Amino acid sequence: MQIIEIYRSIQGESSFAGLPCIFVRLAACNLRCSWCDSEYTFRGGRKLTSTEIEEEISRLSPSGLVEFTGGEPMLQVRELVPLMERLLAKGYTLLLETSGERPLEQVPAPVHKIVDVKCPGSGEGGSFRASNLKTLSHRDEIKFVLTDRVDYEFARDFMRSQGLEKAVNSVIFSPAFLKNPSSERDTSNCQLDPRLLAEWILEDKLNVRLGLQIHKFIWEPATKGV
Ligand code: SF4
Repeated sequence: MQIIEIYRSIQGESSFAGLPCIFVRLAACNLRCSWCDSEYTFRGGRKLTSTEIEEEISRLSPSGLVEFTGGEPMLQVRELVPLMERLLAKGYTLLLETSGERPLEQVPAPVHKIVDVKCPGSGEGGSFRASNLKTLSHRDEIKFVLTDRVDYEFARDFMRSQGLEKAVNSVIFSPAFLKNPSSERDTSNCQLDPRLLAEWILEDKLNVRLGLQIHKFIWEPATKGV
């Protein structure tokens, strides 16, 4: 498999936020979101066998949370799924961060999928694969990254029209971060002010989770490998 990095840090952006987690960051992505903070994954990385990845995960922690992220992990689905099955058998709890563009039918049921629906401001609006809605369960989370009011209204209307509130564990509305953030660990680096987003959510009585990428408030926002 083509891997950018494997490391242990704090999970930053889901209902697992705040928990220690091993991240396996896979190389390559077929999308180009305007606010992407992982462009360094688009090329390069190192080839590791799934056995080597498994060994590295065990070395970092014999149990707990493991998140597959990228890039787009589902581009390496053929090797990823058997690896996930082996890690589940060992008792790990698995998270999968995915853009929502690749088919998700093959993902083992116990894996917690964190699935993006790209909003217009990402430049990749319309990339969500509608058939993925059928694969969602109460283990899963849907995430909308928002740059402005247009994105917010898109997310609100999509969520309502698809009945997402009842279909998944969590619907996350998360302000996009600036492409080139300053070193300040505060909301000045958010493209959409979280306070404004909070007001809109309350005004519309939405049952969603306002997600802040907490790793960007713990470490400097541009820090990699955290
Ligand atoms: S899907 Fe993720 S990795 Fe790919 S361009 Fe968008 S934000 Fe970046």
